[in-house]
Amino acid sequence: MSMRDAQDPGSFRAEVRAFISEALAETTREKVRLGLEPTRAEIQDWQQRLAERGWLVPHWPEEWRGCGWSPAQRAVFQEEMVANHAPETGGITFEMLGPILIRYGDEAQKRFFLPRILNLEDWWCQGYSEPNAGSDLASLKTSAVRETRDGREVYVVNGSKIWTSYAQYANWIFCLVRTDAQAKAQEGISFLLIDMATPGVSLRPIIGIHGWHLFNQVFLDDVAVPVENRVGAENGGWTIAKSLLEFERLNLARVAENRRRLAKVRAIGETVREAGQPLCQRPWFRQRYAALDVRLEALAATVMRFRLRAEAGHRLGPETGMLKLTGSTLIQDIENLAVDALGPDTLAYDRAAHFEPPAPVAGRSEYAPAASARRFVTRGYTIAGGSSEIQHEVLAKQVLGL
Ligand SMILES: Cc1cc2nc3c(=O)[nH]c(=O)nc-3n(C[C@H](O)[C@H](O)[C@H](O)COP(=O)(O)OP(=O)(O)OC[C@H]3O[C@@H](n4cnc5c(N)ncnc54)[C@H](O)[C@@H]3O)c2cc1C
Repeated sequence: MSMRDAQDPGSFRAEVRAFISEALAETTREKVRLGLEPTRAEIQDWQQRLAERGWLVPHWPEEWRGCGWSPAQRAVFQEEMVANHAPETGGITFEMLGPILIRYGDEAQKRFFLPRILNLEDWWCQGYSEPNAGSDLASLKTSAVRETRDGREVYVVNGSKIWTSYAQYANWIFCLVRTDAQAKAQEGISFLLIDMATPGVSLRPIIGIHGWHLFNQVFLDDVAVPVENRVGAENGGWTIAKSLLEFERLNLARVAENRRRLAKVRAIGETVREAGQPLCQRPWFRQRYAALDVRLEALAATVMRFRLRAEAGHRLGPETGMLKLTGSTLIQDIENLAVDALGPDTLAYDRAAHFEPPAPVAGRSEYAPAASARRFVTRGYTIAGGSSEIQHEVLAKQVLGL
């Protein structure tokens, strides 16, 4: 972008729009418009196009192919992505692991892993939760014992991680592991990067209530991980984990996703009729839609305030829990309105509805087949990344001092 463009958000907007129109595959655009899930190949194709344009990680530092955009430009970029039905970028690899390596990784880790992320060689998943450690994450038991094997210093890792989203797509997993069983819970944890092709790593798929394979259980049986794959100090993983959760919570406000889903509800309101009128003219629908829109704009403004603070170099504190709490509840209320608006037409759905645009059926909205399944997907949003009950506890104690 030239200096003149930087001062002219209108031309930047046109540039982003033209790029999406040229680069985004029509089938992917159609899936996103209907609120469906692009496949791994479709996501990677889109990421490849963004990478070629230099827009894969706009928020990273410029030395790592960040764009140095102003917050206003980032907002324009995101608005155009949503308005033109582009898949969301980001996710665990770009929003969580990348920023952690940039902040806490040593030079060798940065030089090895960051180019691989930018070249789309690696897809990361997050190994925090365990069958008996979720909200109380510090009680995690997966052990990492330091040994010398074949002349190399390694951690031998044993345990199991659960609810690991998209692990079936991933080739690397970052894990919290216990490196000191005697220390206080938070003080004996380290942050390890594990190649999922290492002998001893295996997966069990978990199919959710929505009928979709998002979750997995990951088993780690005698997995030898080079000591160089530890990020930060031994037993210093909790600080990194907490800071990663703060990035995650900022992201879990899900402003772009909320906008996308609200746009879908608007389209439903314009096309589905009740008592001879489109729903968008019916008072009950208008009231619920307007209330959601107001909540979304308030959330977007608050997230922007937090982003400006983060960009000015301030550490984000426990108050980010507020964003996660509000964004996740809002998204559920938006999906509830979608289902209420479509009515009994949403009752029949199948697993394919997550991925494939439906064949047209006279009198049935094209949004109906996936509506219930997509609503079920959002049930987990008030649990993932720290449940709403825990967020309330943290906000009450650490922010409000109650
Ligand atoms: C969509 C989704 C994606 C996820 N992806 C990942 C992932 O990729 N990687 C990963 O590591 N994990 C992931 N998780 C797991 C997630 O982090 C955990 O589900 C979450 O931390 C809650 O832990 P738990 O499921 O063990 O529930 P529990 O901690 O057992 O909680 C059960 C219930 O008890 C309540 N509760 C627990 N403790 C308290 C308390 N002190 N006060 C009040 N109420 C309490 C909770 O709010 C909840 O309602 C994902 C979860 C979901 C839903």
